[in-house]
Amino acid sequence: MSKTYNIAVLKGDGIGPEVTDSAIKVLQAVQDTSDLRLNFLYGEAGYHCIADYGTNLPEETVALLKRTDACLKGPMTTPETPGAPVSAAVKIRKMFNLYANVRPCRTYPNVEALKPDIDLIVVRENTEGMYSGIEYEVALGEAVALRIITKKASLLVAKHAFKLAEKRRKHLTYVHKANILRITDGIFNDAVKEAALKHPDVTVDDIHIDAAAMHLIKKPETFDVIVTTNLFGDVISDEAAQVTGSLGLAAGANIGDTYGMFEPVHGSAPKYTGMNRVNPTATIMAAQMMLDYLGEKTAAAIIENAVMQVLKEGKVRTKDLGGSSTTSEMSEAIASKVKAL
Ligand code: NAD
Repeated sequence: MSKTYNIAVLKGDGIGPEVTDSAIKVLQAVQDTSDLRLNFLYGEAGYHCIADYGTNLPEETVALLKRTDACLKGPMTTPETPGAPVSAAVKIRKMFNLYANVRPCRTYPNVEALKPDIDLIVVRENTEGMYSGIEYEVALGEAVALRIITKKASLLVAKHAFKLAEKRRKHLTYVHKANILRITDGIFNDAVKEAALKHPDVTVDDIHIDAAAMHLIKKPETFDVIVTTNLFGDVISDEAAQVTGSLGLAAGANIGDTYGMFEPVHGSAPKYTGMNRVNPTATIMAAQMMLDYLGEKTAAAIIENAVMQVLKEGKVRTKDLGGSSTTSEMSEAIASKVKAL
């Protein structure tokens, strides 16, 4: 029986509209060939709407998100000047307690990667840590940033990571820097160990963040599920994405108990705005993760197969993959493949 889902769409800034439109095109192709129904509700958020709304996350958009089953989000620009609005993505993650940021990275067919058999997931704590956004200048030229770590948030993300590990190769690595950040990472590590008690069949090991960065280059194929705090997870998921080929392929899911927001791992790449040259696949795979989250496994599998086949054939490749195809040619190829499957 067909079900209709309300999907909030926030196109974002920079390359956001191009890659989000690409994902919508592919979702449209899925709807054209199945009884899945998606009701897209467009909202404003990001740097571009500050001039009109005085904020990067207007109240109307928050209300819209609350009326929907999930959100497909394009990347948004966040200015770096002190006092500028906090990132809209960070606000949404906190507001909806989307505690787990799930970022799969794997080797793709016909895409050059450091190793042929990488298949890992970075699960990043998504609501606190260095992203608390609390910084003070205590004296001229001296400042502190608060790295907030709680047992509650650490347990939530650890439990989510273990559930993923159970469905995969049953190997979980927690990444930290407890030799320096003894109290904060001590709490995080204890939470992971507590969660591990309920998953005796999952092999658990741990590694310092600096060593993890090195091992992701040296032997990425040895990782299955990595769980870590917010900033460490942000950094190593970009690294893992590049190790498997391109940031243009990496998608992420922000998961909470009652809502999910899906986005590419990459940012708004302002220098490529409107050039129709970036890879839309990360956002298309974010849409794929959204359908999977909604329980639409067949539709999600169709998108994944279509992406894999287009990459495998190698006829349509964007510049980051060594080709010369445009954003729209890539999304058109994936959408056509969806219709053909
Ligand atoms: P970025 O990810 O936007 O770009 C870094 C580089 O990665 C680009 O110059 C480009 O070479 C490559 N790249 C990114 N997306 C690509 C794609 N789809 N296809 C091919 N190549 C791609 O990172 P940045 O330059 O550090 O950040 C730009 C802005 O994005 C900043 O304002 C930052 O705050 C924001 N940002 C937003 C999010 C988000 O909304 N979740 C995430 C990261 C960064």
